[in-house]
Amino acid sequence: MERTFDFIIVGAGSSGAVLAARLSEDPAISVLLLEAGGSDRHPLQLMPLAFPRVALGNVGTWQFLSEPEPALNGRTLGIPRGKTLGGTSSINAMIAVRGNRRDFDDWAAQGLAGWSFSEVLTYFKRLESHWRGETSWHGGNGPVGISRMEGADLLWEPLLAAAEATGIPYCEDPNGAEQDGISRMESTVAKGRRTSSARAYLHPAMKRPNLTVETGALVTRIAVENDRATAVQYERGGQSQSARASSEIVLCAGAYGSPQILMLSGIGDPDELSALDIEPVHELPGVGRDLADHPVVINEWELKQDRGLTRHLRFDRAAKAAAQWFTGGKGPFAYTGTSANIFLRSTEGIDRPDMQMMCLPLSGDARMWVPGLQRRSPPRISVRTGYLPLKSRGWVKLRSTDPRDAPRIFLNMFSAPGDMEGMVRSIHITRNIYQQSPLAELISHEVLPGEAVKSDAQLEEFVRANATHRAHPGCSCRMGTDEGAVTDAQLRVRGIEGLRVVDASIMPALPRGNPNLPCMMIGEKAADLMLGREPPAPIPLP
Ligand SMILES: Cc1cc2nc3c(=O)[nH]c(=O)nc-3n(C[C@H](O)[C@H](O)[C@H](O)COP(=O)(O)OP(=O)(O)OC[C@H]3O[C@@H](n4cnc5c(N)ncnc54)[C@H](O)[C@@H]3O)c2cc1C
Repeated sequence: MERTFDFIIVGAGSSGAVLAARLSEDPAISVLLLEAGGSDRHPLQLMPLAFPRVALGNVGTWQFLSEPEPALNGRTLGIPRGKTLGGTSSINAMIAVRGNRRDFDDWAAQGLAGWSFSEVLTYFKRLESHWRGETSWHGGNGPVGISRMEGADLLWEPLLAAAEATGIPYCEDPNGAEQDGISRMESTVAKGRRTSSARAYLHPAMKRPNLTVETGALVTRIAVENDRATAVQYERGGQSQSARASSEIVLCAGAYGSPQILMLSGIGDPDELSALDIEPVHELPGVGRDLADHPVVINEWELKQDRGLTRHLRFDRAAKAAAQWFTGGKGPFAYTGTSANIFLRSTEGIDRPDMQMMCLPLSGDARMWVPGLQRRSPPRISVRTGYLPLKSRGWVKLRSTDPRDAPRIFLNMFSAPGDMEGMVRSIHITRNIYQQSPLAELISHEVLPGEAVKSDAQLEEFVRANATHRAHPGCSCRMGTDEGAVTDAQLRVRGIEGLRVVDASIMPALPRGNPNLPCMMIGEKAADLMLGREPPAPIPLP
């Protein structure tokens, strides 16, 4: 017997879990949430410093692979995504950044009513319980706990002094009036534990009788009748199942999953669909196009002394730190591993930062070691140097008609003019900061790119050989008012009734920062849109 719900949501990630929780606050509304992954009970998911092991492991993740990237010497890049309750918010690095306020104003300026920063700020505030409490910029009572990373192991003081020596100002709140400057890292961590969208929103909501959550449910197709989305087909426990939506179906399957499901359902470029013997149901050539992700390279230095977080990874110390974290949510394992954010303008004449440095008091690939048995991880510090206003765009396409096949993902990094130059410029700036006192005195030598790599041409070679993406995919079902847009400003799929996309794929351009909070904001705003609520009044900004 096919069951019917008011709303069916596909994907319990950063946006989907928020949306499911908000819609089901009204007991009269029935919601089915379908998630391909399982529960978020991985023992390390909650431990902030364990995030790389979780993200790159095989429990609770999809591990996709990109197509060969021409500008990166033909390399294919690993692409981790969350496949669990909370989606990628359950495996990410927990950096809490909203993006630059002008990024959202740009969305609105493209004709997307309701998306200016002063209009979406209500939702950013609504979602958070910020360590600063309720202020004009922050929320004090939302589900997502946000804390600031502090402690001697983070080497914040020498980093701040070095940054200030190059003229970079201290920024008290990178999610406040202006991003520019160096700020202590703020994270989606509360009481030392990760606050994913599942922990924050879904687990409390799952007690409601009107919210049905099915894990292990791989959605294979949306059924469309007379230009209206009516039902969701999925596989669960080896069986094909189907559920009907009396009101709406919402794709929250992420920047790869949502376009994949649309195309499997016959919504996309008719030529590409026909080539795979999929009957086109609705022509929407923008599906899967305009995929964007931020590029990043790692700068790394070895320290003269055993400082930073690496020393806590020696087995005996790690055991102590794990116990400290488990019992009180404190100690080195409660750190996310990033200590500071630096947003700056790498060039004159721009109105907002074009570069983000995420500073780490350890190497990105530091490992726990057992003395006498394994090689110790050397004491290092590193920066993930990112260039933000990228213009390069790639695509997501179907590999086959089998929904279990990973989609084809082409990031097409550094294909647009200016992106490579911006990245090279950013590496010079990062280096310059780490050459300043008192940070310079802590460093024995540069590991990456390495002291021999100096000129722009050498740095470009370094980028081609080493750059990767920041796991911030978006824009693959972008909102817009043009023919290439997939969704409108209400997040409705253009030309199909009863179908929306609510996740990172609707972004017209990536915000300058990290997309988890923006995705949660999108989930919050979508709930209001779907329930037909009056939009909140814009918050006046200084
Ligand atoms: C390693 C890593 C580190 C990151 N670090 C940060 C960070 O520090 N800060 C930050 O802001 N952002 C970070 N991000 C990015 C951020 O977490 C994501 O941009 C955000 O979580 C995306 O949210 P979403 O709702 O679009 O998709 P997701 O959260 O990925 O949710 C999509 C959900 O849909 C499910 N799904 C997909 N296909 C199907 C299907 N066919 N059927 C059923 N379910 C399906 C998936 O399993 C998943 O649960 C990081 C990402 C990664 C991978």
